[in-house]
Amino acid sequence: MKETKLSIIPQPVSWQQTEGFFQSRGLPVIRGDEPFRNEIEAVNGQLRGDLERMGLAHIQDREGKAVNCTYEANPCPQKINEDQKNEGYRITISKEGVTIGAASGRGMYHGLQSYRQLVLSEYKGFKEEAAHNEANFFLPCGEITDYPRFPWRGFMLDCSRYFYSISFVKHIVDVLSLHHINRFHWHLSDDQGWRLPVPEYPLLTEISSYRQDRRLPEDMPRAGGFYSEETIHDFVEYAAARHVEVIPEIDLPGHASAILAAYPGLGCTGGPYRVEDRFGIFEDVLCAGNNEIFDLIAKIFDSLTRLFPSSYVHIGGDEVLFNRWGACPKCKKRTTELGLKKTRELQSWITARLTTMLAERGKVAIGWDEVLEDSPQFRLPKETVVMSWRGSKGGMAASKRGHPVIMVPNTNGCYLDYRHLDVPEEPGQSWGLSTVYQGYSMDPITPKMNNEEASLILGGQCNLWSELIYAGKIAEYMIFPRVCAIAEAVWTLRENKNFDDFSRRLLIHQQRLDKLGLLQYRGALR
Ligand SMILES: [Zn+2]
Repeated sequence: MKETKLSIIPQPVSWQQTEGFFQSRGLPVIRGDEPFRNEIEAVNGQLRGDLERMGLAHIQDREGKAVNCTYEANPCPQKINEDQKNEGYRITISKEGVTIGAASGRGMYHGLQSYRQLVLSEYKGFKEEAAHNEANFFLPCGEITDYPRFPWRGFMLDCSRYFYSISFVKHIVDVLSLHHINRFHWHLSDDQGWRLPVPEYPLLTEISSYRQDRRLPEDMPRAGGFYSEETIHDFVEYAAARHVEVIPEIDLPGHASAILAAYPGLGCTGGPYRVEDRFGIFEDVLCAGNNEIFDLIAKIFDSLTRLFPSSYVHIGGDEVLFNRWGACPKCKKRTTELGLKKTRELQSWITARLTTMLAERGKVAIGWDEVLEDSPQFRLPKETVVMSWRGSKGGMAASKRGHPVIMVPNTNGCYLDYRHLDVPEEPGQSWGLSTVYQGYSMDPITPKMNNEEASLILGGQCNLWSELIYAGKIAEYMIFPRVCAIAEAVWTLRENKNFDDFSRRLLIHQQRLDKLGLLQYRGALR
């Protein structure tokens, strides 16, 4: 029997080839049990769109060959946890047809996406004039079993520094789900733009959402925008149909220039402030001595609670400069009242207060690893999830302290705003480098962690910050194929990872991504 490789990314747990081939003239019809109606509808829509992009007609196989989606309580024979069982699937390919078994809609969706990858690379399109027995779609017979290593497989898009159209964001989420990425972290606020409607604070969308580019003549229109409630609602449903959970981020109390431009009374100096068109870390942050900041945050959290069903809200907490607090009479008064030693410790008080406000709304807070710099009076609440971005150190420290952790080390290929290669021709931040290989070799569980610490690692993700992104096409070039490597780093079992094999599969996989119309980096991988 000649060995035939499937080249699925991320690499499944196992592939056992058997004798013979499944073949059909058109695409097999996808049908199945009632619990999977939504997943079947989703993948049918995806395949229709994919084939349209490829210039191929969506013709069903005339001999009635089918993909059968069936409920299986235990699709994978291995000893796995409940979460893995629910995300796991089994694909059996025989001469007669294809069967996908899963215990839940999530597992079925992942199975259908692996099948969709096979369609993208193997389906040659139906030809009316072809001889009756000429098949256009061949798959080797055999069985795939698959389940994820980590439950959190994420991607973050910064929609503040560059305001992406919702149709672009949807296309990216769709392609992420092709790789079993299941969390979309939506960075909705920063110094350079605010993207969330908050009805009680209308200036956030009237003023904070737009910025004037000072490189251009003053009479040029402002750039930016925001996502309406209707758009967000529709997008969250679109992502949910792809088993992707949307986690919103509102960055507090730093990165607040856009908020302050609309509500200058919430800053320590009273302004004036502007929605920034420069990039960097700015000293103006929300005034910790002003109670009104919590009125604003309460309404922001109400909006998030109404619009996002996720149990998580990301509260930022990164890169806060403390010099304004140190010079502000209100902040100094607050520091004394709370019995804090330094004004910088006000951040731990704010973080504790925000996590409580979120808990009242049934939400769990996620913060960047700076939230670990707490104070004896205000320890970071145990349930707060720490996102480790300054390398893996923050995540290791957080897991020692009992916090759930998501790894996004900027030192290990997870920062997609960095260049692919250290050459001036490559777009991206010149101070950092994120090669495909670095992302591939990222392991959210570091060798120094003990079992208890390792059990707190939810998974990992990669982030695309948009300071240097001036068009969606540039974003695609920064995302692909690095996100494919990250997807494998967080899905595939450690013992099944092999970079040489990944590189081989990637050649085929990048042709699939071409067919989806994506611009990709194609240089050296390491
Ligand atoms: Zn202040």
